Amino acid sequence: MKTKYLYINTIGCQMNVYDSEQIANGLKYLQYEMTPFIEKADLIIVNTCAIREKAEQKVFSFLGRLAGLKKKKPDLIIGVGGCVAQQEGAKILERVPYLDLVFGTHAIDRLPDAIQTISSKKCRIVDTQMSNQIKELDFSVNGYDTGDVTRFVTIMQGCDNYCTYCVVPYVRGRETSRDPEKIIDEIRRLVETGAREVTLLGQNVNSYGIKEGLLTFPELLRRVNDVDGLLRIRFTTSHPKDLSENLIHAFKDLDKLCHHIHLPIQSGSNRILKRMNRKYTREIYLEKVEKLRNTCPDIAITSDIIVGFPGETRMDFQETLDLIGMVEFDGLFAFKYSDRPNASAARFSNKILEDEKKQRLQQVLDLQDQITTRKNKTLKDSIQSVLVEGFSKKQNQINTPDSSPNAQWTGRTSTNKIVNFYNNDGTDSCNKNVMGRLVNVRILKTFSHSLWGETNGKEPACFGLRGEKSYVA
Ligand code: SAM
Ligand code: SF4
Repeated sequence: MKTKYLYINTIGCQMNVYDSEQIANGLKYLQYEMTPFIEKADLIIVNTCAIREKAEQKVFSFLGRLAGLKKKKPDLIIGVGGCVAQQEGAKILERVPYLDLVFGTHAIDRLPDAIQTISSKKCRIVDTQMSNQIKELDFSVNGYDTGDVTRFVTIMQGCDNYCTYCVVPYVRGRETSRDPEKIIDEIRRLVETGAREVTLLGQNVNSYGIKEGLLTFPELLRRVNDVDGLLRIRFTTSHPKDLSENLIHAFKDLDKLCHHIHLPIQSGSNRILKRMNRKYTREIYLEKVEKLRNTCPDIAITSDIIVGFPGETRMDFQETLDLIGMVEFDGLFAFKYSDRPNASAARFSNKILEDEKKQRLQQVLDLQDQITTRKNKTLKDSIQSVLVEGFSKKQNQINTPDSSPNAQWTGRTSTNKIVNFYNNDGTDSCNKNVMGRLVNVRILKTFSHSLWGETNGKEPACFGLRGEKSYVA
C-alpha cells in the first residue's frame, strides 16, 4: 500500500492530545504517516474541544481555511473528531459542505473503518454513537512512539459530576475507568520508547476505579510508582470534593510523584460554588490546601477560576480575589464564563456583561502574576532537579546543533516550573544530550512564567539514560 500523509490539528486539553496520538496510531494500519505540512496531507483531522465558546470558534475558523485545499485536491479527506463533533454531529456537515467525516469522542476505534469507507465509496459519514464501556484499542498498548520524554495516559473517560457550567458529561459521557493492568502495560511500553514521565489523565482522577470496584487512585499511583525506568508521575485533574487523605499522603510516600497538584477551585464564593454544583465550600478547600502543605511543604498548587459566572456579584468576585491572595497559588488558569449547550447554567438568569467579565479576568491575571513572580523569586540561587524535555523554544529558533556548548535546554521541576538552562557540567556526554535525564540546575534568573539557570559542574549533573533500566529518581 502506498504511504499516505495525515495532518492532525489538536485543539483543547491534554485528553485531546492523548486521543490524537491514538488516532495517529490507529491510522498507521492504513499506511498513514504523520506530516507537519498541511499541504502534503491526504487526510486532515481536527480534534476538537467544546469546553468554552472560544475553543469552538477556533475549530470553525480552521475548517474555513481548508476550503481552498479541498478545491485543489479533491481526494483530500477532512474529518472532525472530539467534543465539538460529539456535540454538533451532522450539523457540522451542513455548515461545512466539503467536510467528509464527523466522529465523536467514543468513535476513535471505528475511525480506520470510516476512512476506508469514505475512500472507496466517496461518501460522507457521521459517527457519534456513545457507549458506557471503554473500548480498549489494541494499538493503545503500543503507544504512538513520539519519542517524547513526557507522555499523557488517559486512565478514565467522561464525568458524572455535572457542574452547572460544564459540557464534559454531555460530550464525553459517563465516568468510566480503564483496567489498571492495561494502564500499567501502556506505561511500560511508553517507558520502552523513551518516556520518563507520565501524566495520568481524567476529569476527576480522585474517583478512579470506585464505580467499577477496581483499585483506588492512590493504589493505582503506587502501581505506577513501581514501573522500572519511569522517573516521574503527574496527574490531572483532582476535584477538591474527592481529594482523600490517602491521596494527600501519596505525596509523601511515593518517590516518583511530583510535588504539584492542580486543584480547581473555580470561585471563592460559597454562593457561587453552590450554583456551580461543586459540592465543597471555600472553607473545605482551604482546609485541604493546609493538609497538602503540612504533608508536603514544597508542594506547588495550581487552580482554575471562572469569572463572571451568572449572578456573580462584585462581592462574590472579591471573595475569589481574597482566596487567591490567601492561598498564593503557584499558577492559575482563569476563564471568562461562557454558556455551553446542555449545561444548566446556560439557562440561569443574571448573566454578566462581556466587558465586566473581561475586567474581572484581567484583575485575576494581574494578581496571580504578582504572586507567581514573587514566589519564583524565592527560587533564585536554589538548585532544582529538572527532567529535561528537549531544546528550549529559543534554542529551536536559533537552531544551534545539540553538540554546541551553548545549547539551551528546557525541562520542568517536580513542582512543574519551566526551567531553561545551559548545560555547563563539563563532561562531553552530558553536553551532547541530556534529554530524558534528571539534571541539577542552579537557578540564576526568575521570571513570572519560567526560571533560567545552568547546571553546576560540582553537582551530579545527569542520570537516567534513555532506555536504561537503572535510574535515580
Ligand atoms: N474536571 C476538571 C474540574 O473539575 O475541575 C475541569 C475540566 S475543564 C476541561 C477545565 C476548566 O475549564 C474548568 O476547570 C473550568 O475552569 C473551565 N470551564 C469549564 N466550563 C467552562 C465554561 N462554560 N466557561 C468558562 N470556563 C469553563
Ligand atoms: Fe466538568 Fe465538573 Fe466534570 Fe470537571 S468535574 S469535567 S468541571 S462536570
